[in-house]
Amino acid sequence: SIKRGDKNGYRFFSDIKNEELLRQVRLANDIRSAITKNEMSIHYQPLVDLETGEIRGVEALLRWTHSEMGPIAPSHFIPLAEQNGAIVELGEWVLEEACSQVKRWHEAGVSRLALAVNLSIRQFKSLNFSSKVVNILEKTNFDPALLELEVTESMMQSLEESVPILNELKSHGIKISIDDFGTGYSSLSVLGQLPLDYLKIDRSFTKELTGAASSASIVKLIVDIGHSMNLQVICEGIETKQEVEALLQFGCEFGQGYYFHRPSPPNEIERLLDLKHLHNTKV
Ligand code: C2E
Ligand code: MG
Ligand code: MG
Ligand code: MG
Repeated sequence: SIKRGDKNGYRFFSDIKNEELLRQVRLANDIRSAITKNEMSIHYQPLVDLETGEIRGVEALLRWTHSEMGPIAPSHFIPLAEQNGAIVELGEWVLEEACSQVKRWHEAGVSRLALAVNLSIRQFKSLNFSSKVVNILEKTNFDPALLELEVTESMMQSLEESVPILNELKSHGIKISIDDFGTGYSSLSVLGQLPLDYLKIDRSFTKELTGAASSASIVKLIVDIGHSMNLQVICEGIETKQEVEALLQFGCEFGQGYYFHRPSPPNEIERLLDLKHLHNTKV
C-alpha cells in the first residue's frame, strides 16, 4: 500500500512535470510573436584562425529574452520552434538579420568576414529553401562565398533529399559546414557523399583533448578524417590554451570558444573588430 509520504512525493513530481509542460506550451505559443515584439536578437561568436588568433568569421547565435520569463536558451526553444514549425520563419529572420549586420561590417572595412548560420531540419526541408536563401543574399547584397550554412548529420539522413538542396546552395557559391560532428550515427558513410566545405568538431570532444592520450587521439582522428575529405576543420568549445596547442599539433585550422571570445551582441563585436566609428553612427 502507498504511504502518505510517497503519495505526496508522487504528486509533487507530477505537478512539476505539468508546470514544465505548461511552460513549454506557453513558450511554443509565444515564439511566433517574439520577433515582432522585438524579443529575439542575435549574438555573434568569432571563429578564429588557430595559428594567428585572427577573426575569420562569426557564427550567428539566436537569443530570446521573453518579456515575462526572461532569457530562454536556444537548446530549449529551438526544439519547440522545430516542433510547431515556427523555426521556418525564425530561421529566415536570423539569416536576413545576420546578413544585413555582417554586410555593414564588410562595408565598414572588414570585407572578408565570413558568416556562419545554423539551419534546422524543418527549415532545410521547407519548400524552396535554397531560393529563399538566394533571395535574402540578393536583398542584403551579401557575398554568397562568405556565407557558411551549418547543417547536422541528423539533417542528412535522407541523401536523396538533402544532396540536391546542398548542391543547389553550392552552385551559388554558398559554403556548407557539418556542425556538431561526431555526435550522430551515420558520420562516415554520410560524410563522404555530401558536398561539404567545413567540418565542425562537436564541443563534447574538445574537453577530451587534455584528458587521456587515447581520448585526445580521437580528436586527431576527426581532424584527419576532415582533411582526407578536403574539408577544413573548425573545433568548437575551446576553453583553454592547452586545447589550442593540442589542436594546432593535430593540424586543425580554426577554432571557436570562450578561450577566444564568447558569443556577444553586435556592439561588442564591433569593438573587437575595431569598428569604433560604427558605434555612434547610424548606418
Ligand atoms: P551550435 O551551433 O553548436 O553553437 C555553439 C554553441 O556552443 C553555442 O551555444 C555557443 O554559445 C556554445 N559555445 C561556444 N563556445 C563555447 C565554449 O567555449 N564552451 C561552452 N561550454 N559552450 C560554448 P548556444 O548559443 O546556446 O546555442 C546552442 C545551439 O542552439 C547551437 O549549437 C545551435 O545548434 C542552436 N542554435 C543557435 N542559434 C540558432 C539559430 O539561429 N538557428 C538554429 N536552427 N539553431 C540555432
Ligand atoms: Mg553551429
Ligand atoms: Mg548547430
Ligand atoms: Mg555545434
